[in-house]
Amino acid sequence: MNSSGMNHYLEAAERSAKWHAGYKAAMKKCRFDTIAVHGLYSMQEALDYNQGSIIEPIYMSSSQAYRDSDEMEAALSYQIPTWCYSRIGNPSMYYLEGVLAMLETYGSDLDASCCATSSGMAAIFSACEPFLSVDPKRPNSPMNFVATCQVYGGTFQQFAIRKQQEKGSEWRKVINSSDIREWEKLIDENTRFLYGEMPSNPGQAFFDLEAVAKLAHKYGIPLIIDNTVGSPALIRPLTWGAHIVIQSVTKSLTTSGFGVAGAVIARKNLILKIDNETLKADFATYIKALPNRDNGPNISPMNAVLTLNDIRTLRSKMDLMSRSTMKVAKYLEQHKHIEQVDYLGLESHPLHKLAKKYMILVDSEQDELYNEKVNRYGHLMSFRIKGSIQDTRDVFDAFQRIWRATDLGRIKSVATIPAISTHQQQGEEARKIADVPPNLIRLCVGAEHPDDIIADLDQALAVMDGKKTISTSPEFSAGGASSARLRKN
Ligand SMILES: *Cc1c(COP(=O)(O)O)cnc(C)c1O
Repeated sequence: MNSSGMNHYLEAAERSAKWHAGYKAAMKKCRFDTIAVHGLYSMQEALDYNQGSIIEPIYMSSSQAYRDSDEMEAALSYQIPTWCYSRIGNPSMYYLEGVLAMLETYGSDLDASCCATSSGMAAIFSACEPFLSVDPKRPNSPMNFVATCQVYGGTFQQFAIRKQQEKGSEWRKVINSSDIREWEKLIDENTRFLYGEMPSNPGQAFFDLEAVAKLAHKYGIPLIIDNTVGSPALIRPLTWGAHIVIQSVTKSLTTSGFGVAGAVIARKNLILKIDNETLKADFATYIKALPNRDNGPNISPMNAVLTLNDIRTLRSKMDLMSRSTMKVAKYLEQHKHIEQVDYLGLESHPLHKLAKKYMILVDSEQDELYNEKVNRYGHLMSFRIKGSIQDTRDVFDAFQRIWRATDLGRIKSVATIPAISTHQQQGEEARKIADVPPNLIRLCVGAEHPDDIIADLDQALAVMDGKKTISTSPEFSAGGASSARLRKN
């Protein structure tokens, strides 16, 4: 080893680390919107490395070249900053990770890091799997994890089939997650982590995050929170004591709908009863450099930059979409064909008071429109049709402005019937426990004028009165393509 040669690079890395730490510290003092717009991408870096480009670069390159063998050796032993190979890291990915770590810890002194992944499911896998490894001291001990039963359909399958059925890690389901005693009763010495989704998709389950975090700390096990629905603009679980947050970056964070992505954001220096010091020191960097290097679920540079662009306006979008959702929820609540509306923002929701403690529009007290802390409850709601499964489908099929798709957090309003889509595979029994009945429509209100969404709902619900006529499609699209109906056979 030519150590004097390597020293040259190590010294430069030290100077560079100092510069970046200073830049990050200055950025951390800025408001949420400023961090969301700029993240860790600086004018200095743009001028020195990126031809002055004011937007973060997209390096589609598979790998990074090194000046000489010394630099290569220092890089591959992770002694100097490097991205090395796009399966492990990439400059575009780095900027996304930087901004997400800062936003999820905003308003606190916490230091966190992030690992961006190719999807939300890859993030959940990457966050949970390291805790389900065999304990060398007790190689034959069983493993379990305690998680809310009201979770996203994909999460349900990953937990029930991949982890429990195929790998034998028992999923202990918390049925009523707002009951803290239920969580504690399920924990024993073989519990590897606690997991919760809040507000849950589609059921709006919600729990006392601070109390569950206290339980996790008491037992020395990590609390992992799926914060997809609220996003850091409305709720930041790390600041309430959670150890790790996962995001389906696909949703609230990438409102435009350009692509699928995920992220794991974790506090540094985790205090846990497990023996892996590297893991505890910096969990997100650990999974990025080690298990994810070997398993390969990290994000592509293109998706990283597309989502960065959406994150810049996260706070104002979450505010607008939350206000519109509230208006739509209030409209539906008084409608004669609606049996029930589930939205945490409604005072009628049994968990409204609890949600009020946690779901606050970030920096609203510094926003001259509000000048005080205001509650915002997000874009996700659901409602139940007072009628049969067929009635529910008829209303759903009559939407003209609201898109029928299994998606959420979009700039466009989107609706689905979870029982036949996102939550179809888990079966009727599990849907019953999670309260996902077949007459439930999940609606995510976008950034359209809310009155136009209400008008669409109004005309769709009119199907139930038998007044509605089904609209026809035009024979030609505006782009000139003729429809299949025109074909002569
Ligand atoms: C969509 C979603 C996921 C999964 O994310 P993908 O990006 O689709 O893999 C996880 N949790 C919640 C709450 C979701 O809505």
